[in-house]
Amino acid sequence: MTDTTVSAPAAPRSEAAPPRSEAAPPSSEPVGALSPSRAADFKTCPLLYRFRTIDHLPEAPSRVATRGTVVHAVLESLFDLPAAERTLASARAMLHPAWQELLTEHPELAELFAADSDGAPGSGGQVGPSAGFEEWMASAGDLLANYFRLEDPTRFEPAAREERVEFLVDGLLLRGYVDRIDISPTGDVRIVDYKTGSLPREAFEAKALFQMKFYALVLWRTRGIVPRQLRLIYLADCDTLSYQPDATELERFERTLHAIWAAIERANQTRDFRASPSRLCDRCDHKAFCPAWGGTPPPFPEPVAAPSVEASVIDEVP
Ligand code: SF4
Repeated sequence: MTDTTVSAPAAPRSEAAPPRSEAAPPSSEPVGALSPSRAADFKTCPLLYRFRTIDHLPEAPSRVATRGTVVHAVLESLFDLPAAERTLASARAMLHPAWQELLTEHPELAELFAADSDGAPGSGGQVGPSAGFEEWMASAGDLLANYFRLEDPTRFEPAAREERVEFLVDGLLLRGYVDRIDISPTGDVRIVDYKTGSLPREAFEAKALFQMKFYALVLWRTRGIVPRQLRLIYLADCDTLSYQPDATELERFERTLHAIWAAIERANQTRDFRASPSRLCDRCDHKAFCPAWGGTPPPFPEPVAAPSVEASVIDEVP
């Protein structure tokens, strides 16, 4: 465990800067929109971006992703309770209602466990393909137990949870959802994101922080304060990854997002979204359509136009 701090950092005030909207009013109508997930998709594999954002190819729900959604819902609701009642037992008791609520919204998720009668349990907090419902639910409880090893939710009040953030800059709408925002008594802002996957190896940390820098940029531009800390909480590994951004870096990051958007527009105009095979292919739902794996993409949707705001925004998935 690298970080067990539970209160917002008491370090000096975050670097302040005028919101971008004060310095240069953005254009009022977005010509496109980008979320951290879709920007990351394009960076990783332009063809994956196309399949998800332009073709809207369906993707099968997974137990791992669904467990992440349920755990996120519990960690959000936990702070609705009075501080003294935010215990592990309370959190565990919220798991089944959170699952039921999700099932009401997405009844198709019941298929995840439809074939379970004698499923073998997963291990070490991992949900394997043969894990049954009870084991799956128990592994979600394990993730919550790890959360309580990392933070004491009775000791602080988040400033925001599941906060929708967006900022329009030069016609590009940057948008996403932040799991949690903490603000210290001195005004320092901390952005927190819960991850139910594993802590990335050092070489992949930058990739993990891409989403957090995206949020930091939007908060800086809309609130005028550079977040003091970006904190990723890895529940499976019971570990955290923290990072302190600065204004110069966020300005650079903003230029990177614009470059990504320009590349998306170019690819859209030429219908040229290249496949970029990597280890991610193992978990890609669209291999059957991917030329890198002998497949053929579906016909490009007509008419060809810049990805619309609605088409290019897909909300964050835990
Ligand atoms: S299979 Fe791999 S290369 Fe093909 S679209 Fe998916 S991630 Fe990209």
